[in-house]
Amino acid sequence: MGRKRIRGSAFARSRKRLVPPMTQRQVADEIGATQSQISDFENNTGNVLSASKIEAYAKLLGSDFQEYLAGHADQRDALAFCNSTLCPSHEALANGKRIYIVPDIFHTKDTFCRCCGEPLYRTCIECLSPVKPGRNCAECGAFYVDPPSEEELAGQDPMAWAAQQQRIHLAVLGSIQTREEVQS
Ligand SMILES: [Zn+2]
Ligand SMILES: [Zn+2]
Repeated sequence: MGRKRIRGSAFARSRKRLVPPMTQRQVADEIGATQSQISDFENNTGNVLSASKIEAYAKLLGSDFQEYLAGHADQRDALAFCNSTLCPSHEALANGKRIYIVPDIFHTKDTFCRCCGEPLYRTCIECLSPVKPGRNCAECGAFYVDPPSEEELAGQDPMAWAAQQQRIHLAVLGSIQTREEVQS
């Protein structure tokens, strides 16, 4: 369900903060990609890099950044959330044409979402600060989970889409036994 969403823009910001900063060309040479692939990846224009190349890129950016990739997250008991827009663990709210996804944020040592199987994240995908309860990051304001794409909406009215997701959410809520509620 859904696909792993990795934001290349976060990679681009980290790349420019390296001392000394790396160019797209240098990254491309290091990980065996082309400069235009790095550029497309950093501009979030589709899945242009394979998972192993994304991992190699994360490695260049240092150990903190690798935690961004849930597969490399420490198995520690930290707040985590599923980043998949379509995950039934989220609440979906609509306000007119806008849809807000409110992720389920909970303490876990798991690497993958028990609801949909996608990787769990422990940091904001944009600024990499630790996740805190809420629908957007307290540090940078980015939404933790993207609203549905045009493709995911499939021509549905946003209110209808959110109501449908909410029904699925409520239906699966009872089946998730293992998580601990966040008291906030
Ligand atoms: Zn999920
Ligand atoms: Zn943030």
